[in-house]
Amino acid sequence: MQEQKTSKVTVVKGKSADCQVAVIGAGPYGLSVGAHLKAKGIVARVFGEPMEFWANKMPEGMLLRSPRVASSLSDPDRAFTLEAYEAASRREPCAPVPLDTFVEYGRWFRHQLGSDLDPRTVLRVEPDAPGFKLTLQDGEEIRSTNVVIAAGIGPFKKKPAVFQNLSPQQAIHCYESRDVRRFAGKRVAVIGAGQSALESAALLHEANAQVEVIARESHVRWIGQHSWLHHMGPISTMLYSSHDVGPVGISRLVAYPNIVSHIPLKLRDRIRTRAVRAAGSRWLPERLAAVKITTGRSVSHAKAVGDEVILKLDDGSERRVDHVLLGTGYQVDISRYDFLPLELTRDIEQFDGYPKLSSGFRTSVPGLHFVGATAARSFGPLLYFVAGTEFASRELVHHLPSARR
Ligand SMILES: Cc1cc2nc3c(=O)[nH]c(=O)nc-3n(C[C@H](O)[C@H](O)[C@H](O)COP(=O)(O)OP(=O)(O)OC[C@H]3O[C@@H](n4cnc5c(N)ncnc54)[C@H](O)[C@@H]3O)c2cc1C
Repeated sequence: MQEQKTSKVTVVKGKSADCQVAVIGAGPYGLSVGAHLKAKGIVARVFGEPMEFWANKMPEGMLLRSPRVASSLSDPDRAFTLEAYEAASRREPCAPVPLDTFVEYGRWFRHQLGSDLDPRTVLRVEPDAPGFKLTLQDGEEIRSTNVVIAAGIGPFKKKPAVFQNLSPQQAIHCYESRDVRRFAGKRVAVIGAGQSALESAALLHEANAQVEVIARESHVRWIGQHSWLHHMGPISTMLYSSHDVGPVGISRLVAYPNIVSHIPLKLRDRIRTRAVRAAGSRWLPERLAAVKITTGRSVSHAKAVGDEVILKLDDGSERRVDHVLLGTGYQVDISRYDFLPLELTRDIEQFDGYPKLSSGFRTSVPGLHFVGATAARSFGPLLYFVAGTEFASRELVHHLPSARR
């Protein structure tokens, strides 16, 4: 009797789990897409711990680089903005937005999804006509007609070849160094000149580490060097979109991902790389005033000798440090999502690791979609940022066959 009851429950549970859309990842993109699907009455499930990447991987004390107006998740009525959260939780609005505030905001936002949010991790996605079969961390299997991959950039961390011989304790990526206080009193070389590298260097310095930034760029660029261009009223509005992604002019263009998607790939790539070139936020130079920054140099050799790391630079000089922090960015490669089997990724048309997407964020595999950074090669650099959640959610939901019925 007991067994019968148990098996009946399992069957009912299996049936109720079936959905029209399964979203993998509950970061800014997954949560936003989920909110739009729910509003359309589409039966959806969003999988993953809400804001897990921001809460567990970003360095403590970090400030958002994106302006406040470009840091809201998207819901169809624009009722769950960052401002709405601050008002509801009686927080003073502040700029730049602190990491903790943003994580709490995302967790507040998730409540509108209700039971559509399932915190379990998806272990595997397989084609299962007419849709897909998803295996969850506890072994439960669910079926969904469509799958939206909103799984972020976590697996795409770049570790340049020269650092491959160092242990994970010696060469740590910026996205894995949440607690910078553990570096107090240590000698740390930070590699890179982008926001992650420079902000990590500031946080390490403030945590009493001995820091040197080593960058191959000839100089460090700071965002907002032409701040007067942002203070010319309507003229500034013509030059920059409120998302503030990219320099004058390009900023306006990238705010229209549907236009960007029609630009020939070579030019689209140039626009994309120009819009996100390495630079630090305007609040960093002061915090880095006492930090040694070596530019125009790269590390040509790195070896561990006991607990120490010896770095040889291309000018022949040497550094002895305890840790190397890699602010070396990431390289999108969807085959590194371990929940996607090779047989499935092989069928997805790609441009060097990025899926080729058509309108509605559709891949060449019917029913399979990607949003977030993986969509940036198709729709432009806005998709690397939270500001792209609005376009992605509306566009995706609009093109879903079930939404057009
Ligand atoms: C240091 C740093 C600073 C940044 N600062 C900014 C900024 O100021 N402003 C800005 O707009 N952007 C910033 N970004 C870019 C930022 O990563 C993206 O804007 C944003 O995270 C995109 O959201 P997402 O939902 O695509 O990805 P994520 O936030 O990474 O969310 C993806 C989620 O998917 C989950 N997931 C992955 N695999 C599975 C699975 N198999 N099952 C279930 N869940 C899964 C992960 O746990 C994660 O929570 C920054 C990035 C870095 C690294």
